Amino acid sequence: MIKAKKRFGQNFLRDESFLNRIVESMPNSDNIIVEIGPGLGDLTKKIFVKRDAVKAFEVDTDLCKILKNLFSSHIDESKLELICGDILDIWQRQNLIEQNYDLVANLPYYIATKLILKALEDENCKNITVMVQKEVADKFCAVVSDRNFSSLSILTGLIGESRINFLVPPSAFEPPPKVTSAVFTIEKNKNYYGVNGVFEDEKEFREFQYYLRIAFIAPRKTLIKNLSSKYEKSVLVNIFTNFSLQSNIRPHQLCISNYYLIFKELKGKTDGPIK
Ligand code: SAM
Repeated sequence: MIKAKKRFGQNFLRDESFLNRIVESMPNSDNIIVEIGPGLGDLTKKIFVKRDAVKAFEVDTDLCKILKNLFSSHIDESKLELICGDILDIWQRQNLIEQNYDLVANLPYYIATKLILKALEDENCKNITVMVQKEVADKFCAVVSDRNFSSLSILTGLIGESRINFLVPPSAFEPPPKVTSAVFTIEKNKNYYGVNGVFEDEKEFREFQYYLRIAFIAPRKTLIKNLSSKYEKSVLVNIFTNFSLQSNIRPHQLCISNYYLIFKELKGKTDGPIK
């Protein structure tokens, strides 16, 4: 067995029943699958039971050699395209793929949140089924008033529907991680840029992310206090009064649609939540 490299977040899921359950959790679709970090190929094999085409990105050159041997017939038949490189470097420069895709992965935990945010932003990505640290899954899937309701829950809620599918104990991995993991799914059900979309364009989507960061900058303080660190207090008080919102509301207590409405008002009434 190859020695796992800590710096690449390598914890290989070897338990057959959990591997099967990840694939069973994938929403039905005809989209090609993008897998980030195929590792030793155990999840990749299971994905091929359900789908014909996979594009996989693996940073570790030693694992790439193993994968090329293991999947040589899939590669020859163009069922698997294996890209050896750092997914974040690649994603910064270009789209992962120029067609609709579903993301399925046991993500490297050190960059999991970043990768899910990229996938949320990528309009070609239609569904996301990933394993991450349980606490991260909780943040993406929380609903208003939950302790974990956060900027990640709001972005996810605006773009699609999320659910936690099941938890995975450390003992299912080699080597076992220190934390419990969770597999969750986001089914995107809305266009979110451009014509008919939630946001005017990519720039507005980023402005919204910036505004959410300010809203949750101190989760225990009031929302108005947080927002007034960047936006004019009198404008905020007016907006809260017009929407009949209590001035002492905390960031985790405001529903997703109100977050969006306040954002739109702020854009219209101030120089905008620009960053
Ligand atoms: N899919 C395998 C499994 O389920 O057992 C391995 C999952 S392991 C948690 C994460 C995988 O992501 C490893 O194979 C690791 O080498 C790969 N990885 C880590 N950082 C990466 C990066 N920046 N780009 C692409 N792959 C990466």
